[in-house]
Amino acid sequence: VSATLRSERIALDPPLPAALRRDVEQGVYYCSDLIADARVDRAAGAWIELDLLGVSDAELSDLTRVVRDWVERTVASSLAYEDTIAREWGRPEAGFRATPEQVLASADLHSMGEGLVAYGPRLASVFGALRELWDRLAAEVGATPLVLPAVATLEHMQRCDFLRQFPQLLSFVTHFREDFGVIDRYAEACRRGDTESACAPPAQDMSSFRRMLRPAICYHVYPCFEGEQLAGDLRLVHAWGDCFRYESRNTTGLDRLFDFRMYEVVALGSADAVHRWRSGMMERVVERFEALGLPGRLKTSNDPFFVSGSVLKSTFQRAHDLKYELEVPFPNREGHLAVASFNEHQDFFASRFGITTRDGEVASSGCSAFGLDRILAALLVHHGTDVNAWPAPTRQTLGLNT
Ligand code: AMP
Ligand code: ZN
Repeated sequence: VSATLRSERIALDPPLPAALRRDVEQGVYYCSDLIADARVDRAAGAWIELDLLGVSDAELSDLTRVVRDWVERTVASSLAYEDTIAREWGRPEAGFRATPEQVLASADLHSMGEGLVAYGPRLASVFGALRELWDRLAAEVGATPLVLPAVATLEHMQRCDFLRQFPQLLSFVTHFREDFGVIDRYAEACRRGDTESACAPPAQDMSSFRRMLRPAICYHVYPCFEGEQLAGDLRLVHAWGDCFRYESRNTTGLDRLFDFRMYEVVALGSADAVHRWRSGMMERVVERFEALGLPGRLKTSNDPFFVSGSVLKSTFQRAHDLKYELEVPFPNREGHLAVASFNEHQDFFASRFGITTRDGEVASSGCSAFGLDRILAALLVHHGTDVNAWPAPTRQTLGLNT
């Protein structure tokens, strides 16, 4: 098989509804590892174009069928809801001070492999300032901190019903079987300096997978309140840390990482209290973005899907306004970057973990999640890569003036 690239356009008839175009473009990579790049006709949804790696004509017809079936299933299991924009602020036409490529080329940003970045001293201090800004926001609303592990057991994630909905994002954790021969053979291979395979161990030497890297923060919050009856109308906590999502070919720059940093404020309480909290939180967060000099908009949204069950969930989220995203103008294919989300889960998690309200009803929950790396990326493209030259109000909001 030659590694030549060929482009194939697959006609979609009927055309893909507008609300599905972005997610289909990003989800199609999970159909086959031969897909190197994908473009959906954003204007009319009449085709999807794939750049394919070393594909024969026979493979092409198989792959076309797989993609068509997947798109058909996706369309069939969704109701096309258009997104509504709840609010818009700032001057999107103000223009960018840096491209994502210039951000990546910053001497203070170190790539550690695909989707893995490290911040050097200057960017790390901005990152720290950003996190502290969110700590102040969390304290203002009355949230208390939690410290949570970055790994989750599969039993736990199954209980949260995450596994069947987003299997494409999962990364499992394993280790060697307790077998001296296996472990010693591996150490010996590494001693020989097997750089070509990057010391990848054979699958049969590994234990079965019982754990995974967490895809978000709030899944670990619910067990902390398992079986509890809440004392007040609303209980708020916050936590932050690394989260992991396998984004396939969508992985790019600072904005779509494999290992990224998320900050979450999570609410438990009556349905009413959680709903009111979410509205208030959106207000406060918009104020913060204005203070940071970042334009943006709040719009209804949905979680990315790949398998049919999750398309249903996405449709349900849109239909019931369960997810809002805060987007900042960004020079990527969408023209925007989602930097935060505001979610209502109804009683989905609280019922699974036996959490009840003051009145003894099953509680509701909600969360607001912030992608710290994405907010940093947004600051860098809007204000430039020279942090010292950022606008005074932005630096002041971040406490960078000292
Ligand atoms: P979600 O739980 O999907 O609403 O994600 C919460 C936030 O995490 C998003 O609004 C993004 O800012 C951030 N985020 C999600 N996926 C990634 C990623 N692959 N890389 C960087 N940030 C991400
Ligand atoms: Zn959450």
